[in-house]
Amino acid sequence: MSQTKPRTPSTPHRQSQGGKDFRKRVQRSKQQTDAPAPQPATRPRAGNPSAEPGLVLKADRDKSLLRRHPWIFSGAVECIDGAPASGDTVAVRDASGKFLAWAAYNADSQITARVWSWNEKDLIDKTFFRNRIAGALKARRSLGLGRDSNGMRLVHGESDGLPGLIVDKYGGVLVMQLGSAGPEHWRDTLADILQELCSPVCIYERSDSDGRELEGLPVRSGVLRGALPDKVEVTEHGILFAVDVAAGQKTGFYLDQRDNRALTGTLATDRDVLNCFCYTGGFSLYALRGDAKSVLSIDSSQEALHLAQANVELNGLDASRAEWQCADVFEALRKLRDQNRKFDLIVLDPPKFAPTAAFAEKASRAYKDINLLGFKLLRPGGLLFTYSCSGGISDDLFQKIIAGAALDAGVDAQIVKKLHAAADHPVLLSFPEGAYLKGLVLRVA
Ligand code: SAH
Repeated sequence: MSQTKPRTPSTPHRQSQGGKDFRKRVQRSKQQTDAPAPQPATRPRAGNPSAEPGLVLKADRDKSLLRRHPWIFSGAVECIDGAPASGDTVAVRDASGKFLAWAAYNADSQITARVWSWNEKDLIDKTFFRNRIAGALKARRSLGLGRDSNGMRLVHGESDGLPGLIVDKYGGVLVMQLGSAGPEHWRDTLADILQELCSPVCIYERSDSDGRELEGLPVRSGVLRGALPDKVEVTEHGILFAVDVAAGQKTGFYLDQRDNRALTGTLATDRDVLNCFCYTGGFSLYALRGDAKSVLSIDSSQEALHLAQANVELNGLDASRAEWQCADVFEALRKLRDQNRKFDLIVLDPPKFAPTAAFAEKASRAYKDINLLGFKLLRPGGLLFTYSCSGGISDDLFQKIIAGAALDAGVDAQIVKKLHAAADHPVLLSFPEGAYLKGLVLRVA
């Protein structure tokens, strides 16, 4: 059930008052600078009490914002005007007082503010959010998305101009994930808008991602509007998947891999397939439908494997060609190597090993380990579909890790295709972090 935390009253903002009191800035103390998550000093709002709360950047710390990157880190902030509560809209100004953006403030995050709008004339209110969400829906319609699937990411956070907001659609059910203080603040408004624009049978909230903790937000999930049907199913490329919206991972399903799963299906014919980190059987079902000779699927979650097997049945696929293992992939791959098992197509789609660049080194070792073992398990001419959904691992670094793994495995491999998330997960050019999913299809000599 949903639990709501006491809400801080919203601070409606209006158009800028201009940078009136910029000379009276409160400097941050040394002690504050050394604190683990330093927060900028605040100053009481002087003058016009109805002036919007504001955030002033340090001199020379406006460059990333001028390139339209929507995050403002605490280290870039000179001071806070007024006393905004987390989630309130603040006017962001450079050191000279020039307006830069409207942003959602979060006192409890290293990312002090996330930009809603670059336009000073914008009013951040229900109409603003309605237009943004309607824009995201329109963009997807104009790209013809939804023809292959009744599951779709309707809102992809920063890349759709709505930092921290994820909305996934599974047939008539919408799942909303609020990842930061801005959308948290506008939670009810956002649900109202989604109800008005999409008329879903249910809006379910899954605000239980790891990132919430970093934002100082409580974990929360439950029905927000309507009622959750007993069965939620999604069809993609003609395959039906049961989705556990309430207890499944993320918002219940990994929509981002839709087109990559379809590609795997077309290349699986007559091959022995190994699908590591299979979750509810995504790649496995496509491989079975694509007439793979055999499909071994491994995941550490028994619940996910149960759903995967139910999905095979749901689609009337030949279960006799499918084998399921509940195991740790790192160990399972070693066992398969020791048993001298060989495959013609291997999928490695692990969870996020490196949420940020700080985890990149440790994550690199993990990626190298599984990919090295993957290369060793492939027959000559075999295909490796390998992925990273780590924001902290760049495309270049990922390719280098895979090259190192092939070298150590003693195989020559070619990249035959580079893969990304499906088009309902667009990437804003000024926000490269949006391109979290990268994949390589490799063919070993
Ligand atoms: N390929 C899937 C999504 C994979 S998500 C799809 O298309 O739907 C990552 C999966 O890895 C999750 O199901 C999680 O349970 C599993 N997992 C995480 N760590 C694991 C480990 N060490 N060994 C096996 N499975 C693991």
